Amino acid sequence: MRIESMHTSSSDTRTSQPAHTSPRPQPGGVSSAGIADPGRDPARGTLPFPRHRRQQLLGWLGQAGQRKLAASTVLITRVGGLGGPLAQSLALAGVGRIVFFHEGDLIEEDLHRMVLMDPDGIGQPRAPQARASLQRIAHPAACIQAFSTRITPEDAERWMPAVDLAIGAAPTYEERLLLGDTARKHGKPFVDAAMYDDEAQILCVHPADGPCLRCLVPEPPQWRADFPVLAAVSATIGNLAAYHSIRILAGAQPIPWGELIHMDMERMSLKKTRLTRSPACGTCAESATMNGRSR
Ligand SMILES: [Zn+2]
Repeated sequence: MRIESMHTSSSDTRTSQPAHTSPRPQPGGVSSAGIADPGRDPARGTLPFPRHRRQQLLGWLGQAGQRKLAASTVLITRVGGLGGPLAQSLALAGVGRIVFFHEGDLIEEDLHRMVLMDPDGIGQPRAPQARASLQRIAHPAACIQAFSTRITPEDAERWMPAVDLAIGAAPTYEERLLLGDTARKHGKPFVDAAMYDDEAQILCVHPADGPCLRCLVPEPPQWRADFPVLAAVSATIGNLAAYHSIRILAGAQPIPWGELIHMDMERMSLKKTRLTRSPACGTCAESATMNGRSR
């Protein structure tokens, strides 16, 4: 299997169109999910809470890193089998603001992997259920903002200036590439995570230098929407992506920028492959032009 053919695990062909939509936020406005505009961040400046004392014992985190997490905003596409455990770990770690897009209504088939969903919520929109789960475990000052729609180019453009990190956890290449392209354009770090069967991969994309996701996947390929997924696999790669995301937000070093991390759980192998920037990548070319230099 080609590694670039991996998908994240919230795929559901029956909900490829939004089954429920929340009003998109307008400047200064609030949506039905209590969503404020991107410029407002109630958690910024919040001091670390005692609940995070044990993780602050990590040498690369400490109090300084914890304060950065509390002041951080992340944007995530999808919080299903992969993005759900990922968002869960970010909320537990004390990330101040989590914004996510996840369309569709909950179906019974989701329940074997989507840890943020309510088993009693079948037939109801997924995003509010995921938001409630995250709000319950996040620190009291954290802000969880949810959209029951698939992210659009307009959404990505609107939110990217306000975020410290973008994370692609969607099953569709279109969403992952949209987020990656927009992050590079705005000079924001981007973490892409995907899985298929027993295998999974992560790519940490530097805000300005090195290869981007489109260097690896120039155009969305054909893929199988009804792909095999086990929660043990999707949650594992989701948490590996969360780990690197937390390190990026905390300013820790090193970060495996531009290295494709591939995991095969059946063989218990983990390998890193350093990618190179593609000379044909339009995203990198545009980024270099915008920054007035060639990287
Ligand atoms: Zn590129």
